[in-house]
Amino acid sequence: MHLVYHPRYLDHLQGGAGHPERPERLAAIEARLRAAGFWRDLLEPGPVDDADVLRVHRPAYLRRLAAFGEGDWDADTYVRPETPAIARLAAGGALLAVDTAWRDAVPALALLRPPGHHATPDTAMGFCYLNNAAIAAACLFARERRPLAIVDLDVHHGNGTQDIFITSRDILFISTHQYPHYPGTGPATETGAGDGAGHTVNLALPAGSGDGTFHLAFDRVIEPILRQFRPAMLLVSLGTDAHARDPLGDLTLSSAGYLHLGRRLNALAAELCGGRIAYLLEGGYDLEALADVITGLVALARGEPFQPDFSIPTDPHCVGRRAIEATVQYQAPFWQLDPAPQPPE
Ligand SMILES: [Zn+2]
Repeated sequence: MHLVYHPRYLDHLQGGAGHPERPERLAAIEARLRAAGFWRDLLEPGPVDDADVLRVHRPAYLRRLAAFGEGDWDADTYVRPETPAIARLAAGGALLAVDTAWRDAVPALALLRPPGHHATPDTAMGFCYLNNAAIAAACLFARERRPLAIVDLDVHHGNGTQDIFITSRDILFISTHQYPHYPGTGPATETGAGDGAGHTVNLALPAGSGDGTFHLAFDRVIEPILRQFRPAMLLVSLGTDAHARDPLGDLTLSSAGYLHLGRRLNALAAELCGGRIAYLLEGGYDLEALADVITGLVALARGEPFQPDFSIPTDPHCVGRRAIEATVQYQAPFWQLDPAPQPPE
C-alpha cells in the first residue's frame, strides 16, 4: 500500500482552540503507524496546479479564497493566509494517491488535511476548501476516460462531491451518512440529474446505524451497483467520524466494522478494478478511533495481523434497514436491485 503524507498538513489550523479538525488528528495516526512499524516509504506530494483545481471549482471562488486573508469563512471554517497553499498540498496528495494506485494497481492511502468532501464548486464549507477526492477523480478521468466510483463513508454527506458530479454518468458517487445531520443534504431521493441520473446514490442512515446497517447497505446497494457500474478504480472518501466513539456524529461503526468495509472494498477493487483503490482521509475526530481504523486499514492492505482496540460489533438489528430499502426503491429505475425480502405470513 502506498502511503501519502506531507508534513505541512500539520501547519493547517482552524479558528480558535478546541476546533475538532486539528493537527493532533494526523499526529495520532503517525504515532500509531510508527508503533506498528508502518510509518515508512511515505510519498510526499506537491501542490495541485490551477488547471486541475479548475476542473471542479469555479475561478471566482479560487480568486476569493486567494484574496481572503484571514477570518471566518463560515461558522466552522476559518481561513488563514497559508490555508490555500496547504489545501493545494492536500489536493495534490489525493492526486498522488490516485495516480500511484492507478499506475501500480495497488491500494493507496492519503493522510490529508484539510479534508475536502464538503467543498463545492463555489465555496469552502465544513472544514473543507478544495475537494480533494473530486479533483483527483476529475484528473484521472480526464486522462484515462474510464468510469470511476467514489464511495464516501464519512458520517457527513459529501455534498460537495455530489454537487460536482451530479450530472456525470462517468463518475459514480455513493455516500453513506447520518441523516438528518450536517450539512442537511443527501436524502435517498437525490439520485443524480440529467445524464447523471442514477449515478448519485445516497444511503441516508438514522442515528444508531452501525456495523449491521453498513453490512446490509453493502449487500443490498453498494456491491450490486458497483458490480453493474464496473468502475476502473475506486476512490474512498474515508471519514472515521461514523465511528461509535466520534464526538461529531451518532452512527456507531466499530473499528472492526470499518475494517470489514475495507476488506469488502479491497475485494471489490481486486474483482473490478485490478486492485486499484485509493483511500483519502476526510473527517474523524476521536483520536483513538481515527488511529485505530487507519492503522487497521494499512495492516489489512499489507496482509499483516491487526487487532483493533474497538472490535465489538455494533447494531446487530440493523436500525437503518428501512433507510436502505428507501435507497433501493429510489435507485430501482437505474440498477438491478433485489426487492426487499417479504416477512413471512
Ligand atoms: Zn465528517
